[in-house]
Amino acid sequence: GTLTVSELADKLNKDSSEIIKNLLFLGVMATKNQDLDDDAIELICSEYDVEVEKEIILEDTDFDKYIEEDDPKDLKERPAVVTIMGHVDHGKTTLLDAIRQSKVTAGEAGGITQHIGAYQIEVNDKKITFLDTPGHEAFTSMRSRGAEVTDLAILVVAADDGVMPQTVEALNHAKAAEVPIIVAVNKMDKDTANPDRVMQELTEYEIIPEDWGGDTIFVPISALTNQGIDELLEMILLVAEMQELKANPNTHAFGTVIEAELDRGRGAVATLLVQNGTLHVGDSIVVGNTFGRVRAMLNDVGKRVKEAGPSTPVEITGLNEVPQAGDQFLVFADEKKARQIGEARHQQAILETRSEHTKVSLDDLFEHIKQGEMKAVKIIIKADTQGSAEALAASLRKIDVEGVRIDIIHSGVGAINESDISLASASNAIVIGFNVRPDVNAKKAAETEKVDVRLHRVIYKAIEEIEAAMKGMLDPEY
Ligand code: GDP
Repeated sequence: GTLTVSELADKLNKDSSEIIKNLLFLGVMATKNQDLDDDAIELICSEYDVEVEKEIILEDTDFDKYIEEDDPKDLKERPAVVTIMGHVDHGKTTLLDAIRQSKVTAGEAGGITQHIGAYQIEVNDKKITFLDTPGHEAFTSMRSRGAEVTDLAILVVAADDGVMPQTVEALNHAKAAEVPIIVAVNKMDKDTANPDRVMQELTEYEIIPEDWGGDTIFVPISALTNQGIDELLEMILLVAEMQELKANPNTHAFGTVIEAELDRGRGAVATLLVQNGTLHVGDSIVVGNTFGRVRAMLNDVGKRVKEAGPSTPVEITGLNEVPQAGDQFLVFADEKKARQIGEARHQQAILETRSEHTKVSLDDLFEHIKQGEMKAVKIIIKADTQGSAEALAASLRKIDVEGVRIDIIHSGVGAINESDISLASASNAIVIGFNVRPDVNAKKAAETEKVDVRLHRVIYKAIEEIEAAMKGMLDPEY
């Protein structure tokens, strides 16, 4: 429920006292400021012949609606957020470790093993935030969910190996995101290192070093011996400065989930990157399709903190459910608003998954046919013998309901297996088992993929069932 008695009264244009009286008739004792559950809201609405769903579910779920634009004078410089990308084995992980180790302060040495998906270091009194998940998969999965997190990409290329397929992928991802690239030519300690070759090869992708008249910074490094790491960090600061990265530290925090998981002891744990505003312990927050209050906050070295400003990664607890990496979050002024928006986003997500991923089932076949969405019903047959599979297929092909026909996309002998289910799932088909059953894996897969599997022992019953479903005359299943 998301409404109090008086809010419901407002929406219905009635007096609270009238609503309270009506509730009493329905056996519900309530006061003006009491929250009503969905059932009570629905009962009252039906008394007044009001459609309840739209107004309550479709609370504005878009974060943009709740974000006030910052006054330019409130904007302050913020640290750059950097992602390290490159081909496998070119040294991304080694570089992330080298950078982290190079800036460990004595006091933090104990907590340095903490991994929260991102870390921050300080160079020349300026901070830099590194996303600690190397590779472009994470980068891209965040972008595909609408989160632009990275300000700057470090493209690691091993000097002894040169440009490889994932190097090209990574640079194309960075280009697509319009993120500036610094090339770190790694493994310079090796005898076989050939940095000129790396530069040469990258010119083909319009990455041209400054020395050659281009505008890309190349830094020769060795993540293993720490050669060039300081120069690399200085170049990051230089590029970041040119970008004039800014945020308003004095507003409700907004940002993105870097990582999230369910912890046995602590419940839902999420690493958030604050992108604007400041996040505080106790804040009411909506994260993706879930919500909660920030219970505890740990920084990247595992220390408890009370607040986190722009470009700071923190691990929080206190969410109702585990969000997904790439989800965005926003802090709300009060807990009730956060809960309302969180619940509305949750419902909306359910509705969206339903409409996007619904697989056909016999129960809704008629609906699809009626709406003209379906020209053929796709079926996979598994049977005990070749003869019975063919007999069933032949009978099914004779069915014609209002021009919609049966299309047997696969038929075979033996138990229904996982590959039958994945084929059905990918092609939106129904599986019929004739004198056979699904094996254990297929059963599990059918449940998760929501594939409709029907088992029969008599041909005419199988035919009858499909025909009835197509005509919308199927008895409900119990
Ligand atoms: P990733 O797959 O890109 O994360 O690569 P890793 O960081 O795991 O490194 C792959 C291998 O290259 C490891 O055996 C590293 O020790 C080695 N390596 C990384 N950087 C250097 C370097 O600068 N010099 C040398 N000689 N080896 C390196």
